[in-house]
Amino acid sequence: MNIYDYTINDLEHYFISKGEKKFKATQVFEWLYQKRITSFSDMTNIKKDVIRYLNDDFKIENLKILTKQEDIDVCKFLFELSDKNKIEAVLMHHDYGNSLCVSSQVGCNMGCKFCESGRLKKVRNLTCGEMVAQFLAVEEELNIRISHLVLMGIGEPFDNYDNVIKFIDIINTPKGIALGSRHITVSTCGIIPKIKDFIKDGKQVNLAISLHAANNELRSKLMPINKVYNLDDLIKTLKDYIKQTNRRVTFEYILLKGINDKKENALELVHLLRGMNCYVNLIPYNETSHIEFKKSDQRTILEFFDILKKNKISVTIRREFGKKVSAACGQLRANYKEE
Ligand code: SAH
Repeated sequence: MNIYDYTINDLEHYFISKGEKKFKATQVFEWLYQKRITSFSDMTNIKKDVIRYLNDDFKIENLKILTKQEDIDVCKFLFELSDKNKIEAVLMHHDYGNSLCVSSQVGCNMGCKFCESGRLKKVRNLTCGEMVAQFLAVEEELNIRISHLVLMGIGEPFDNYDNVIKFIDIINTPKGIALGSRHITVSTCGIIPKIKDFIKDGKQVNLAISLHAANNELRSKLMPINKVYNLDDLIKTLKDYIKQTNRRVTFEYILLKGINDKKENALELVHLLRGMNCYVNLIPYNETSHIEFKKSDQRTILEFFDILKKNKISVTIRREFGKKVSAACGQLRANYKEE
């Protein structure tokens, strides 16, 4: 078992089952996530026999970095998992801190037409520990502290719900990495039952929804998930989320040339979101050689932005990172050639 799969609660139960005080779990968390040890024998305040059974029961599984592509404001990692599958993570330097984008699955089954990740169907879910290990590896390799975490890499986080929630729990644990909930964002293409679970779980992390179209016909063409969970039900669920949690929802909207970037698309979006506690993040499309969609030109992006703004929708245009380092979802893995 990978020790990074265990929340502090899981470890407390483990130690209790061994006849120890549950406080041991806190000590181990401090060693793993504050002092960043990579071997149990480095835990100098823990008894030898405890270290012995930890060694028997657990491994500390870190990730192998296959490639690292650095640009001025971004660094993209390709990792190899223990079963040789490959995943990506991207670190972005903002003026407010360092933000890490992690993957949640090997491949993705959502099949969004514009997305590189989905060209490889889901092979498997990432374990909680493999998500934790992405975070640790990037901090270690770049010798930085990560201040913000987004689950926007390869995969659909809500198609791996339990592991994602455990991962957030570990990252958020005060005696560990202690990244604040408000600094964590989980992004979904709109799996409604899981959004409902998320409301019930009451996690204080931010929720982002990949919207990309404001009518069912277009959204179903771009994102097959919309045929299962349509826009009307999605918006209804999100209104409930806002009401129950008193939190704002972020909508991601990629601007695709000639597809969803016209004036009427903007007005339709205004109509859909009017009065909701939300904000829209317009994303200039990151073109990829395997997919025919094109990025909207700058003027169109600004016009789209203006229409939303004039209609009192909070809106930003996402800064573009890593064009040189193929940073869009799934691109690094897709371009990686086996030696
Ligand atoms: N499956 C989740 C999270 C991963 S995708 C989701 O759908 O939200 C993270 C975001 O990147 C999504 O909004 C996705 O639509 C967007 N994205 C995917 N490919 C992109 C590309 N080539 N350029 C810009 N954004 C892209």
